Amino acid sequence: MEHDLKKIPSPSKGLLRSEELYEYILETSVYPREPEPLKELRRATANHPKALMATAPDAGQLISMLLQLLNAKKTIEVGVFTGYSLLLTALSIPDDGKVMCKPRHSLVLILVVYITAIDVNCESYEIGLPIIRKAGVEHKIDFVESEALPALDQLLKDHANEGSFDFAFVDADKVNYWNYHERLMKLVKVGGVVVYDNTLWGGSVAMSEEDAPEFRKQGRQLTIEFNKLISADTRIHVSLAPFGDGITICKRIF
Ligand code: SAH
Ligand code: CA
Repeated sequence: MEHDLKKIPSPSKGLLRSEELYEYILETSVYPREPEPLKELRRATANHPKALMATAPDAGQLISMLLQLLNAKKTIEVGVFTGYSLLLTALSIPDDGKVMCKPRHSLVLILVVYITAIDVNCESYEIGLPIIRKAGVEHKIDFVESEALPALDQLLKDHANEGSFDFAFVDADKVNYWNYHERLMKLVKVGGVVVYDNTLWGGSVAMSEEDAPEFRKQGRQLTIEFNKLISADTRIHVSLAPFGDGITICKRIF
């Protein structure tokens, strides 16, 4: 039975192997709907020597959709770089505030920070920050310049944070993905979603060790291990979606 099912051609294989089809998706569905500040951030990042690290716009569009479906308000971003996925998160979540009554009966709007954005280095973030400011969403972001593991552990020290986040996007050092997952399974609420980027690692996960390009080998091994662990994790529903460089969508179910 399993054997017969494997013979049925998968449409997603075609999708991953066809640059023309990928361009078609970008030109037809993604770029025409991409908000102007995100286009500007992409332009500002294009000449960065590590521009390829930025989240792919088609993956970004799906992440934006997930945030809206979840009505996400409190999120975590692990790996900011120049801020493409951070800005799209800030643009996708609502702009609620808390209204408080002050002693002399004047109403004061307290703006709540929604996104905890963690990166070990703020240099690249400074490229995106003026665009984020101009888009009017900087107040939704708390940028934490730190290694992500201690920063997540710090969040966990405050019990009020447990199960309080609606969403997390992980796009930093692949060697720690499982360590991030263990912490995020405590921080994200039941019903919340965690998305991991680059989980197809340039397609190398499906190549033999010999065929994989040298520069992909280490990441390939880490990604294969991570994908196996995620697939066996009964705390979540999973979908490994072939957007961008592969994004794994996990919904916490208990
Ligand atoms: N999501 C971003 C791309 C992130 S690239 C975008 O859409 O543009 C990966 C980022 O992870 C880099 O900025 C790097 O500084 C950061 N990073 C790498 N290792 C890290 C670690 N251990 N802790 C926190 N950030 C890390
Ligand atoms: Ca990435």
